[in-house]
Amino acid sequence: MSSAVKSDPNCIFCKIIAGQIPSMKLYDSDKTYAFLDIGPIAPRHALVIPKYHGAKLHDIPDEHLAEILPVARKIALAAGAEDYNILQNNGRIAHQVVDHVHFHFIPKPSEKEGLGVGWPTT
Ligand code: C5P
Repeated sequence: MSSAVKSDPNCIFCKIIAGQIPSMKLYDSDKTYAFLDIGPIAPRHALVIPKYHGAKLHDIPDEHLAEILPVARKIALAAGAEDYNILQNNGRIAHQVVDHVHFHFIPKPSEKEGLGVGWPTT
């Protein structure tokens, strides 16, 4: 059975999905949204999120996760990124700050662009 999108009116990413907070949109479907990170740690750092609100990965039904990696791959191809990280943090000890599941797409800058700042550093 398919589960409808769940939203939290107090969640900053739900507000971004709803267009109440502006974002640099990269992808938008009925289940998935992607946008440029507001505090990039590398050029073209993006976030891919399920529209279904949940703080941690285990809160999200499978069907709302199905598009995440295909969308991240589309963004990587569009960005022309050869080397990149896909990261997803769960909980404060794991450095999660925003309590709406999100997958970071972090290209590794080319030598020409210089080193990115901050984590991850290798
Ligand atoms: O995984 P973590 O929760 O630490 O990452 C949250 C990410 O959300 C940060 O990279 C931050 O820059 C980003 N963010 C954003 N737009 C906001 C608030 C946070 O892109 N309005």
